[in-house]
Amino acid sequence: YREIIGAIKNPKTGATLDDEGRLKSVEVADGELTIVYNRDDIEIAAKRDLEKEIIKSVAEDFDPFKVNVKTVSSAPPVQVKEKAPEVKQAPEEQAQLKVGHGTIGNKKKVAGVGKVIAVASGKGGVGKSTFTTNLAVTLAKSGLKVGVIDADIYGPSQAKLFGVEDKKPMATPDKKMVPIKSFDIDIMSFAFFIDADSPVIWRGPMLGGVLNQFLFDVKWPDLDVVIIDLPPGTGDIQLSMVQNTHVDGVVVISTPQDVALLDAQKGLNMFKKIEIPILGVVENMSAFVCDAGVEYPIFGKGGGTVFADKMEVDFLGAIPLEMALRESSDAGSPYMSNDDYKDRKVYQSYLEVGSKIANSLGFEEKVSKPKGFFSRLFSK
Ligand code: ADP
Repeated sequence: YREIIGAIKNPKTGATLDDEGRLKSVEVADGELTIVYNRDDIEIAAKRDLEKEIIKSVAEDFDPFKVNVKTVSSAPPVQVKEKAPEVKQAPEEQAQLKVGHGTIGNKKKVAGVGKVIAVASGKGGVGKSTFTTNLAVTLAKSGLKVGVIDADIYGPSQAKLFGVEDKKPMATPDKKMVPIKSFDIDIMSFAFFIDADSPVIWRGPMLGGVLNQFLFDVKWPDLDVVIIDLPPGTGDIQLSMVQNTHVDGVVVISTPQDVALLDAQKGLNMFKKIEIPILGVVENMSAFVCDAGVEYPIFGKGGGTVFADKMEVDFLGAIPLEMALRESSDAGSPYMSNDDYKDRKVYQSYLEVGSKIANSLGFEEKVSKPKGFFSRLFSK
């Protein structure tokens, strides 16, 4: 196989991998083929084409899922060294997050996990993380088993939103990270591994690899769905993260303002380009709801629907601004976990958006039992 793969051309230069001395190793073990090559100066699109070629070249003998393409670079990988915090009465070993170039080149499915979806936004501050948390709780309350990956390296906030900021994941004997459980959700976050006060430089190209670690080096229990909170924006980082990962769909969060500024449009186009299904758009902070429950459409009405129509994607719903949502977030107790809110507009909006997402992922049966969480909606 070394010969076959060595003869494949670098799409960027037209020279073969052997000509350029890129091929580091080609090994067969346990029925899997593992290829390591030097990726210097090969950008994402060319990397994808090259790896497709590699997989195609051995397709007669290896199922694509049995081919692992790994990359190395000439630059030494950044090592993130965190002092392991003291763990009281816990004999297990602390989980470690390794930072290095993408470890998996082709899209693998996570064992035991039904669907993987990502939550994205054109820019920061639009409520993407808040939405991830509350969607997770909504789906969990509907009867699904849910995990959350906080991949927002700029501001990992899932640990805070779920009230588990001070927790550190343990490692299994085979060095897998054990997610932290809160409000019935299994959570894995960058925040568990970085010291909030010390700046950590994350190199963009390496982040795809870290997300892969969160998917594949974590001892996830059997889950129906894992929700990834992506970093805000639509650049290379977000692209490389989802490109290396099998993602079943993306939800794009926008606000009335950024719909107008077209940030969300850029985001949608990016996912369309890399052929990841768009589950739809959610308009967050669509209006203001006061404590008395009166809704003030301060940004006008219908912007999200018009935008979704224009982009030819589904409009999943509008979630208004409500003080209690911000307060619950700050308190580390997700809004949707509080049944006292069940008659409020925000709660109802989450039910609506959640049921649409559950349906489009094929969980209709699971969540629409007669006494199920979404039944009020379905019986309307
Ligand atoms: P992002 O992840 O897009 O950066 P966050 O989820 O951190 O945004 O939200 C930014 C701020 O807005 C947070 O303080 C959050 O509590 C608040 N927020 C988000 N959505 C709402 C909403 N619908 N009502 C009230 N506050 C909200």
